[in-house]
Parts: sequence; C-alpha cells; structure tokens
Amino acid sequence: IWEKALSSIEEEMPIVSFATWFEPLKPVAIRGNNFYLLVPNSNVFNKSILENRHKALVSNALSYAMNKKNIQACFIFDESEIDEMEDGAEPDNPKEPEPEERPPIHNNSGINPKYTFERFVIGENNRFAHAACVAVAEAPSEQYNPLFIYGGVGLGKTHLMQAIGNYIMTYTPEKRVVYVSCETFTNEFIDAIQNKSNTSFRNRYRNVDILLIDDIQFLSGKEGTQEEFFHTFNALHDEDKQIVISSDRPPREIPKLAERLRSRFEMGLITDISAPNFETRMAILRKKAESYNEDIPDDVLSFIANNIHSNIRELEGALTTVVAYSKLHGEKISLDFAKEALADLFVSKQHEINADYIKEITAKYFNTTVEDMNSKKRTKAITTPRQVAMFLCREMTSMSLPAIGEAFGGRDHSTVIHGCQKISENIEKNTDFKNLVLRIQSEIKGE
Ligand code: ADP
Ligand code: MG
Repeated sequence: IWEKALSSIEEEMPIVSFATWFEPLKPVAIRGNNFYLLVPNSNVFNKSILENRHKALVSNALSYAMNKKNIQACFIFDESEIDEMEDGAEPDNPKEPEPEERPPIHNNSGINPKYTFERFVIGENNRFAHAACVAVAEAPSEQYNPLFIYGGVGLGKTHLMQAIGNYIMTYTPEKRVVYVSCETFTNEFIDAIQNKSNTSFRNRYRNVDILLIDDIQFLSGKEGTQEEFFHTFNALHDEDKQIVISSDRPPREIPKLAERLRSRFEMGLITDISAPNFETRMAILRKKAESYNEDIPDDVLSFIANNIHSNIRELEGALTTVVAYSKLHGEKISLDFAKEALADLFVSKQHEINADYIKEITAKYFNTTVEDMNSKKRTKAITTPRQVAMFLCREMTSMSLPAIGEAFGGRDHSTVIHGCQKISENIEKNTDFKNLVLRIQSEIKGE
C-alpha cells in the first residue's frame, strides 16, 4: 500500500522534496482509518512540516492506494505513540481538524478524483485535445471512437483521460468506467495466463462502458498482449463502448505494433497535445499557486515558466519546491529566494549532449538497447536506430566521423558516412520518419 501511495506522491513532487520528505518514512501500522508512518531521525521541525504541509497529500494518496475513504496519515517518532493516540489522548493536536471533504474514491475504476476538467488549464497546445475529451465525456461512443491522444511526457494526457472518467462517473454513475495503464494491462494479462484466470481478466475489460487505456506505446513488441488487446478492442467497439487511448507518439510511429491494431487506433479521432507556450505555463502556475495560501510574486512564476518548457509535472514540482523551501526557512517567497531554492533542480536537468546520451534516448524511441546499437547485429530493427543515433551525433555534437564510429562499437568512419546518408535520404522521403527524428532531437535537447 505504502509503495503505491509513494508512487502517487512522487508524481506530485519534485524529486528533491520527494527524497527529503517521503522516501525515509516507514509504514508501521494501520489502526482503523489511521495509517502510522515512522519519521526516522526526526526533529520536531521535520515532523511539523510533514504535519502541516503534506498531511493532506499523504492521506489522500493512502486513501487512493487503499481504495478506502478518509484514511489519515499519522506521523510518529516512536511506535509507542500509536497506543497513546489510540487512547484518544492525542499528544500534539488535541483535536484533529476534520479531514477536508474529499471526492469519493470509486472502487476499482483506477480513477483518481483529483484529475478533473475543472483543474485542467486550456491553452493553444491542448485546446483541441481538451475539446475532444469533453465531447467524449458528454456523449461516450457517439462521436469519436476510439479517441487517441498523443503527446510528450508530462503534458496532461493522463489528466485528461482521468477527467473523462471522473466526469462520467459523476454524471452517469451507472456507467462502468475502467482506467488502466498499458503496463498494468500487460502485467494482469501475464498473470491471468499463469493463473489460468483468463476469463475473469476478459470479463474485467470487456464488460465496461468506457475503457481508458494509458501509454499504449508500451504494447510495442508484446505480441501476446497485442493480440489480447485487439480482441478487447473489437469486443468493446462492436458493442459501441467508448475507448480512449493515450500514447507518447502517434500510432504510426509506434514500432513493432501489429498493423491491424494500428489501423484500429486510427479509426476514430487522433489528437495531440504539444508543449505549452509561456502564457499557458503561467496560467497553469497561477492555478496551482491559488491552491497554496501564499503570496507568490509574478516574477517568481515567470522565472519558473521561463526555465521549464515542456513538462508540466516539473513545472508544478518547481513551484511546490519553492513553497516548501520557504516554509522550511520561514522566509517570504521572492525571486532571489526562488532562484536559490531551484538552483539544484535547474542544473541537474541540463543533460550534456554526448554520444551516450544520444544513444540512450534514441534507443528508447526505437524500443531497443544501447548494447544492441554497439553490437555487431545488423537486422533492420537495430541498424535503423543505430544510424539515427549516428546521424544525431553528427548533427548535435562536434564529434569527428572516426570518433562517432568509435562510439558505436568501433565502427569505421565510412560506415558512419553511409549511415548518415541513409538517414538524410529517409528524412527527405518520409515525413513520418522526419517527425520521429525531430522528436528525438527535441528530447535530447531537453525541449
Ligand atoms: P502525461 O500523462 O501526459 O505524462 P500528466 O497528465 O500526468 O501527463 O500531467 C502531469 C502533471 O501536470 C499532472 O499533475 C497534471 O495534473 C498536470 N497538468 C498537465 N496538463 C495540465 C493542464 N493543462 N492544466 C493543469 N494541470 C496540468
Ligand atoms: Mg501519463
């Protein structure tokens, strides 16, 4: 439970604060609705920060992980405190404030109540995707089926899908909604085969009114799961049940995906979310800032918006860090203060662009490995990513041809020239391929 709660907290937090506050906590006991967490090496100061700033977040994450309402996180120094609290003599706060009213947690739907349309900021980058999601939420399976949303990491795909789920569960609670990540779907499918429980697996996913399936690019190369999903898709689609799919790229750029699935993904509406512009980033930060009872000057918000361009999770995380830092130091938030608080974050985000990093990112896009790129293998599945990475080394670094060859398992410079030529030609001929290379290049640049 704690692991699951932790991972949802992690999503909310910049890594630095996550590591400081949450990783060291140890779950020790559950009594009724109280979930006790041991704060190691703590001093009173630590505990009060957890208590004041993070209690609601942790409690919510626990409720979500346990699928049970009103779970309270209790931070303790010593296990003996559990019994004291049980006795009703609460040492620190004589009276716990009533937990804030939380939206209900729906059983098994996989829907997190915090992701709603109300909390979603609309900008030029997501206007169309947002409109499509609202349309689907208002009239499932009447317009776009499937709805396919794609875009880079942290741009709001999961948020929008979950918002569809929350909307439907609020206005038509009789409809069965299931949200599942492609990874969970895959794991459950593998378990089902092992436990010979295919029927209950099928029932779970084929008897729903709305299936929201996230990060479908993970189906790449998983033939068995693709086959199963193909049948799930058809069963639902034939009965006019709504399917919403997300991915980090459009269907035709997902490698090792069966053609019949690709064509089904393209049957409905395909919409993308791109990186938000400065105004949208500011609007998102302002909205987030409202949720803190803090005076956050505009120059601080624009400093953050200027430094983080493409990942909204990081954008929000930076703001959370500044607020936490100001609590910790008891100082008012100012621009200088924000610069200090975020110094580490902004430095560590910049990646040096070298052959290793280029290979790593390229390998990820082609669903292969750096080892394979360096190896002698010459199947197309490996030569293409290898040549793309060579091409990018040439474009993005000052490495010489022999140095590039050396970096790719000791190949000779004529192999590098040949590889780069191949890629240039393909880029000219094939727009999808060109877009893919551009996408990889932007990720390497950290855009
Ligand atoms: P993705 O699934 O595309 O990687 P998420 O949906 O998980 O991204 O979004 C990352 C974080 O950014 C979430 O906390 C989400 O609530 C927030 N977020 C993304 N887009 C928006 C938006 N347009 N308005 C408000 N919050 C957003
Ligand atoms: Mg996501």
